[in-house]
Amino acid sequence: MINGETKVYGLLGYPVAHSVSPAMHNAAFKALGMNCIYAAFPVHPEFLGDATASVRALGLGGVNVTVPHKETVLSFLDQLAEEARLIGAVNTIVVRDGKLVGHNTDAGGFSRSLTEQGFELPGKRVVVLGAGGAARAVAVQMALSGAERVVFVNRTIERAEALAGLVSGLGCDTVVRSWSDRLLGREIGDADLVVQTTALGMHPHVDDSPPVDARWFHTGQLVYDLVYNPRHTRFLQKAALAGARTASGLRMLLYQGVQAFELWTGRKAPVEEMRRALDSRFGTDAGD
Ligand code: NAP
Repeated sequence: MINGETKVYGLLGYPVAHSVSPAMHNAAFKALGMNCIYAAFPVHPEFLGDATASVRALGLGGVNVTVPHKETVLSFLDQLAEEARLIGAVNTIVVRDGKLVGHNTDAGGFSRSLTEQGFELPGKRVVVLGAGGAARAVAVQMALSGAERVVFVNRTIERAEALAGLVSGLGCDTVVRSWSDRLLGREIGDADLVVQTTALGMHPHVDDSPPVDARWFHTGQLVYDLVYNPRHTRFLQKAALAGARTASGLRMLLYQGVQAFELWTGRKAPVEEMRRALDSRFGTDAGD
């Protein structure tokens, strides 16, 4: 029952109608019997400053931030958590002592999803396909977790070079390759982990896939697609056919939400209820 004490949380993005975060967080509040709701707010870029200020002015419990605001929102915040500062993007705002503090739980969500898969990053060789915002979160996390070498592949080479520069500064060996580089097959073949971070294959363009040859994948590798809609992308299907283990971006989506929930509420998130909310939208876990 919504009443005068209901605490409001939400999502700032544009558009937001497709988001599954309301279903996931409202399932968590319900499971814990908390008098809280989570709503999606379509915030046009010109109103981002007003919307961010309203988090404090309206006494909201906290918000998530999504496309296209993850980077531009930084200038409206009072403080940044260390990982958000390094990544240069915020997906969660927490109100602490009246201050708006920006966090990036995409990085922690990615890391926890790997742990759940039994995959340890220290000493590992990784290929990251793409160099956008999600790649930044993933790559910074890899470097902080001790990955040995990260190869970046991107259409816009300058963007991959900038990200490689950031990650080498954190003590990790990096290499940049184009999609047409003749050594790309060898890099993917040598990798312990391949992470697909481009938007290719995302609904409704489900037949799209990055230009990698299925023969480059093999048993013993983990192949991870950040795209979660559909759950089993064309890219993951290729990798699975070659015998690689696969992981869907749905796990990262779950754990970034779990971390945000715990930052806002100080309570342990009901992970299974949150997972079920995602499963009911995207189908159950079948091998990812
Ligand atoms: P972004 O900052 O816009 O970056 C998009 C990336 O995709 C860039 O590397 C871009 O290359 C590449 N790309 C786009 N279209 C391409 C094409 N036709 N051919 C080759 N490369 C192409 O987006 P983002 O925020 O990083 O998000 C990327 C994906 O990750 C989205 O599908 C998003 O839903 C997903 N994601 C998932 C989670 C999760 O929790 N699972 C979290 C965050 C994001 P250029 O640099 O050359 O443009």
